[in-house]
Amino acid sequence: MKAVLIDGKKIAAEIKAEIKAEVEKLRAKGIIPGLATILVGDDPASHIYVRNKVKDCEETGIFSEKIVLPGNTSAGELLDIVESLNKRNDIHGILVQLPLPRHLDEFEIISAIAPEKDVDGFHPVNQGLMLIGRDAIYPCTPAGVVEMLKRYGIRMEGRHAVVIGRSNIVGKPAAVLLLKENATVTICHSKTENLSEITKTADILVVAVGRARMVTADMVKEGAVVVDVGINRVGDKIVGDVDFEAVAQVAGYITPVPGGVGLVTRAMLLKNTIKACKRQTVG
Ligand code: NAD
Repeated sequence: MKAVLIDGKKIAAEIKAEIKAEVEKLRAKGIIPGLATILVGDDPASHIYVRNKVKDCEETGIFSEKIVLPGNTSAGELLDIVESLNKRNDIHGILVQLPLPRHLDEFEIISAIAPEKDVDGFHPVNQGLMLIGRDAIYPCTPAGVVEMLKRYGIRMEGRHAVVIGRSNIVGKPAAVLLLKENATVTICHSKTENLSEITKTADILVVAVGRARMVTADMVKEGAVVVDVGINRVGDKIVGDVDFEAVAQVAGYITPVPGGVGLVTRAMLLKNTIKACKRQTVG
């Protein structure tokens, strides 16, 4: 392999150690950061994600409360729960695990979370603040992407960053956060023509599509930084959106799947929870 491996496991461990130290400092002041997770229905992947989030909280000293609701929970019932968590002083972060069952409007539910407790960074207020370059709670995955680049000393300023994918939770915010770092940003998506002509000009290529190994070596410039956000199940294996083995022969840096962005995303949720807690307590 030619590329340097950007090790998500190592970065996540570093962030968690920093969080643990911050939590200890807060606890010494009598403040216990608290995160509430709400899970509606019985989607197996969502249950695993929430279990991991609770485990991460336990490891770092963050108080966590897991609320599991049946799949037929009404919007009114869910909104009441969100509202009661908004009012609680011991809960600084609220996370509603997505996707929600189809009868629930995700936008309506997310919008009901107090913006200062929206640790996923999906509330329209946080998304808007991010867009205009103000401090806000940023979505965990794209914030994690930037964090990984920073921790490997990868310069973003002035470089051409290409993001494939324009979802509100990954692609679009990744583009905005790269722009904030002064990269020159291009967003590609399902309607983009001549995708590989564009990706070949990327100094930094962030891939968030959800199609196993769609980015092949011929689409990548020699020495580029390749960040693979994708998580795809192929048989009994989890693979990214990048053909890792082949692209690693061309790229300068590359993130693996698993062991890359996913682990850092988890750590960024803890970081957001601490940020939210500090803003609500010590200011
Ligand atoms: P999404 O389905 O909402 O968005 C996919 C995007 O890819 C769309 O904007 C679409 O325009 C674009 N796209 C689809 N086909 C394309 C093509 N042929 N060429 C170019 N663009 C194309 O998905 P998402 O929620 O943004 O997630 C993307 C991937 O990232 C998924 O695999 C998901 O599981 C993964 N993900 C990982 C993490 C993590 O922590 N690592 C977090 C969130 C999502």
